[in-house]
Amino acid sequence: VCAGTTSVACFGTRNYVEYLPGDLPIVVSVPHGGALTPASIPDRTAGTTVTDTNTIELGRAVRDAFASGTGRTPHLIVMHLRRTKVDANREVVEAAQGNAEAQLAWTEYHQFIEQAIGLARATGGDGFYLDLHGHGHAKARLELGYRLSAATLNGSDADLDNAQVALASSLRVAAQKTTHGSASLLRGALSLGGLLAPALPAVPSPADPSPGSDPYFTGGYSTERHTVVIAGAQIESHYPGVRDSVSSRAAFGAALVTAIRAFVKEHLGLQI
Ligand SMILES: [Zn+2]
Repeated sequence: VCAGTTSVACFGTRNYVEYLPGDLPIVVSVPHGGALTPASIPDRTAGTTVTDTNTIELGRAVRDAFASGTGRTPHLIVMHLRRTKVDANREVVEAAQGNAEAQLAWTEYHQFIEQAIGLARATGGDGFYLDLHGHGHAKARLELGYRLSAATLNGSDADLDNAQVALASSLRVAAQKTTHGSASLLRGALSLGGLLAPALPAVPSPADPSPGSDPYFTGGYSTERHTVVIAGAQIESHYPGVRDSVSSRAAFGAALVTAIRAFVKEHLGLQI
């Protein structure tokens, strides 16, 4: 448990995990940007090991943008181990592959996220969780993952509304509170993708409502685990114009803050 303040970070064992507490009901995690490669943890032998380049820097830019925009800060949790050593966005067997040191870092990372979500709900009455990633897909667009398959999102708006698919997504808490139907919540003008436009192209959004047959990340372990009591999403970001420079990351942060503030106000009644 971290007893820090908004200006003092907490670190897990051997500084593998960093938790910067905040005072906004917003929680941001960064699982795949780490660079630490201690010899005491063997390299993982299965699963994906690629680093999401500059996503720790992106997470810090998002935190700074919230501070500039709202005068308050989101909670930020960072895994500093390289993905060759642990994958914080997988269940523990694939994540740590039996290594006790990697498993401890994985456990501390998720405990910090759970602590942050508890604090977010205590300050806001509700909250929003974002898991930040970087993708290398050909299309330069954000992939917003709500734990819904491409096949589901490729359905019509009527299909989404009739099946009330948002209740089975990472936005289920928002789906229970909003006046919007599933299609509107997931890809309408006031969806996260709709609110990020035109600054940041995103799928799903009004301009780009479904992945079609393109590669698309649906949202992983963390998005599933940490959206039980608050709503959330996985954001997979492209590199050019988002992660490639200080100014790109700042612009992404500013656009994200504007979008998140409007989203949580519209669908959760949360004023930040
Ligand atoms: Zn990732």
